[in-house]
Amino acid sequence: MHRIVLGDFELSIFSDGTYPLDGGAFFGVIPKVMWSKKVTANESNYCNAGLNSLLIRTGKQTVLVETGMGNKLSDRMIKFYGQPAKLLDNLAAGGVAPEDIDVVINSHLHFDHCGWNTVRDKKGKIVPTFPRARYYAPEGEWQYARRPSERDAISYIADNYDPLVETGQMTLLKGGEEIVPGISVETFRGHTASMQGIIVRGSSDSEVCEKQRDLGRPSGNFPYVPTACYISDLIPTSAHIDLTWGMAFDLYPLDTIESKKRYYARSTSERWLTVFTHDPVIPWAYVGRDESGKMVAKGV
Ligand SMILES: [Zn+2]
Repeated sequence: MHRIVLGDFELSIFSDGTYPLDGGAFFGVIPKVMWSKKVTANESNYCNAGLNSLLIRTGKQTVLVETGMGNKLSDRMIKFYGQPAKLLDNLAAGGVAPEDIDVVINSHLHFDHCGWNTVRDKKGKIVPTFPRARYYAPEGEWQYARRPSERDAISYIADNYDPLVETGQMTLLKGGEEIVPGISVETFRGHTASMQGIIVRGSSDSEVCEKQRDLGRPSGNFPYVPTACYISDLIPTSAHIDLTWGMAFDLYPLDTIESKKRYYARSTSERWLTVFTHDPVIPWAYVGRDESGKMVAKGV
């Protein structure tokens, strides 16, 4: 169980399971002789990808960032990706019922990020999985999802979001909004045009600062606001930290590089905890430079 206290907030990782992803698609233009040093692939060149959701307990609200792949994939999609569908069981094992979730946030609307937004009820009707929750997703993603390019049309499953938009249960975001106190979104273009990172800022009261100082972090100026960011497919795993290690899925690979630079400029100087959406082993880490100046994941 991955859990950390971030200021006044408690953060936990809940997985929807793992699924096979083609190594070439996962690492884009990076040659296999390089990526295979970090990640193993099977005889069909499939790597193991994780589906990490982030649960944030603010003390007032329970917020779920991302809802995995869900259980509504077509038979054709299941052939490629399986359908682990473990998120609800894993939440239940952690004492979290669907009714407990107050807020759901999707970084973007690809099927592996919003799959458990909805389920089919006994009559086959699409209903919200988290009945009490207010859902949030980027407006630009939703607009794009209505008319996607042939290249990534397969990644959008309207049942994951359209019924929620129709009933008004999903709010569409421009980017930059604070959703609940301490939790906001920011657009990072690259993987898609409108993907948003979810930035979580714990309290900055003096007690927290003292606690952090006792832990020896960070070396910079106080007051320190403990911060985490669910950066989603901009940096999907700890193997994608290098600026040029982007996925072949990225629609705007040059923007991925620029967005990563913009992200690191803040995440390293303010010592943000980076959450990796698809890392099956390391769900989060502090990303910083090692002695040789190379960007690496550092333990929590
Ligand atoms: Zn993804």
